[in-house]
Amino acid sequence: MSSKKKKKLYEGKAKVLYSTENSYSIIQHFKDEATAFNAKKREIIEGKGVLNNFLSEFFMQKLNSINIPTHFIKRLNMREQLVEKCEIIPLEVVVRNIAAGSLSKRLGIEEGTRLPRPLVEFYYKDDGLNDPLVTESQITTFEWASETELGEIFEIALRTNDFLSGLLLAVNLTLVDFKIEIGRSLKSEGEKLIIADEISPDTCRLWDSKTKTRLDKDVFRLNKGSIAVAYTEVANRFDLLPKNVKSAVK
Ligand code: ADP
Ligand code: UDP
Repeated sequence: MSSKKKKKLYEGKAKVLYSTENSYSIIQHFKDEATAFNAKKREIIEGKGVLNNFLSEFFMQKLNSINIPTHFIKRLNMREQLVEKCEIIPLEVVVRNIAAGSLSKRLGIEEGTRLPRPLVEFYYKDDGLNDPLVTESQITTFEWASETELGEIFEIALRTNDFLSGLLLAVNLTLVDFKIEIGRSLKSEGEKLIIADEISPDTCRLWDSKTKTRLDKDVFRLNKGSIAVAYTEVANRFDLLPKNVKSAVK
């Protein structure tokens, strides 16, 4: 699989996408920029891109290994990975186990309350509209996804939640909630769905199971310390970082 960079396709808040010589694969470059509140809060955090590149590689590879298909092909270097290009479904798929963030605000549920069962929510991916919460009926009416795809998306989201919850609990981390993006594979005729984008502490809420310390982007959102330190802690619990990176990220 070719991994030679051709041209810049897109630059977003956290990543840059490059084309390769193969029309089915692209390169994802992880930047050090951290943003929150629809990019109203913005900062460069040295090492964040490297940490998310390693962490997303780890989670996606684990999912691939249990046949939950993701776009991840291989990590190329400290900041870049080769991924399968796909047609992104314009939804942020959020799964929640414990109330926090916008759910707590919207419904007045105290942060930290365990939900009776995992909750799946959909937000329409549109920065101009502030990614509004949308219903299943809106999703099929506006043809963002078909009913069959929506069924598959629920299944992928809940399987991912079960698997990642267990993986994280083994290192004393509680998966409070997370966001995934899903795309249609361009390779297969049968409209196969794959997990795309990234899975990292930027897109998950991770609390230490014992102390409830936050080890995710809330550290940045709520000014609770250094996210480089928090994300390094997550990576080190899985022993993901090469020796030189362990000391480079403070
Ligand atoms: P944003 O667009 O919100 O600023 P990023 O900086 O993370 O966020 O940009 C990455 C972009 O790449 C997102 O729009 C995401 O939907 C898109 N993307 C992620 N994975 C793939 C993929 N495998 N194929 C095509 N697009 C992808
Ligand atoms: N999330 C994300 N990108 C977004 C919005 C949310 O990755 O644009 C993640 C967020 O990190 C959390 C989960 O989705 O793990 C639920 O976020 P929530 O709806 O509570 O919104 P927030 O508190 O981030 O505004």
